[in-house]
Amino acid sequence: MPKKPLLEFTDRGIYCAQGKFYIDPWKSVDDAVITHAHADHAYFGHKQYLAHHLSREVMLYRLGEINLRTIEYGETVNKNGVQISMYPAGHVIGSAQIRVEYKGEVWVVSGDYKTEDDGISTPFEPVKCHHFISECTFGMPVYTWKPQAQIFADVNNWWRTNLQNGVATIVVGYSLGKAQRILQNLDLDNGKVYTHGVIENTNEALRRNGVILNPTERITFDSSKEEVRKGIILAPPSSVGTPWMRKFAPYSFGYCSGWMAIRGAKRRRAADRGIVLSDHADWNGLVSAIDATGCESVYLTHGYTASFSRYLNEIGFDAHEVHTLYGGEEEDAEASPQPSPEEREPKADMNDNASEVLSFGEDLGEATKEELS
Ligand SMILES: [Zn+2]
Ligand SMILES: [Zn+2]
Repeated sequence: MPKKPLLEFTDRGIYCAQGKFYIDPWKSVDDAVITHAHADHAYFGHKQYLAHHLSREVMLYRLGEINLRTIEYGETVNKNGVQISMYPAGHVIGSAQIRVEYKGEVWVVSGDYKTEDDGISTPFEPVKCHHFISECTFGMPVYTWKPQAQIFADVNNWWRTNLQNGVATIVVGYSLGKAQRILQNLDLDNGKVYTHGVIENTNEALRRNGVILNPTERITFDSSKEEVRKGIILAPPSSVGTPWMRKFAPYSFGYCSGWMAIRGAKRRRAADRGIVLSDHADWNGLVSAIDATGCESVYLTHGYTASFSRYLNEIGFDAHEVHTLYGGEEEDAEASPQPSPEEREPKADMNDNASEVLSFGEDLGEATKEELS
């Protein structure tokens, strides 16, 4: 009889029977190992949690009183003979790839990751393994990110232009990861940075965790609209189109997301500016990261799993699609573990963009189903 794999895919999450723990489970379990604090990976209701030290305060803020143990990158925890350790995933502050080893067999679970150093998350480190469980949110060749220095030069210029025109500047990005990445790359000679409460709560949690962030000022009922308009406003996706946002009119608002790379996404969010900025690896990042593991087999958890696994098989990997409940870029967002409307993005955008995407020979239906699941 073939031996049972060290990690398996169950209806609760990725499971290690030998170590009796789950990785990023979406249903309640006794022992959960968490890659990062985004809502689609760190669910409420587990008996105990293991995560990276830098996820600590955000997880306690989002999940309340949980039984949480945290470790550093490279530190090892033993569960029933299985060695568990964490390596930087470069996705957001505190995000980790989980390395699992038993009797010489090594698996790595990527969680979400990106390969570019964003200057605030510990940079991604490839980890050698036999089996790599990878995301592929942007596993299509149309997704190629510009270097972040170039993206932020554009953002800072746009902010300066808005100041000259007497228009407020609002930048929308999700509250853990994107918001801090933006914050650390703004040109503070232009003015002050004001934050929506959802973002400031996350900033405060990170600061409690010892993360040094640029100064920010929380927008409250007492904030002077005139002063705020002289700075820049960081706001979460949930604030788009709300009275909260409208009170800063006239404003120009930029939406930061990898989905902005494709036509129609900006229009759908009624954004004035689409800022193509993602905390997930682009096509080249995914292929190079997978290659760097030296793995024998790849399991794709979320994103364009069908087409990307087909591509990997063509270039000589043993690749498989697996079913999970992890989301893509924007459902990472706020404290809701439910799939958000943003998850429908790939379908809508690919229809808008059919010629570009179809040239890759995709089964769009399957990729979309995976995104929505
Ligand atoms: Zn995710
Ligand atoms: Zn994430």
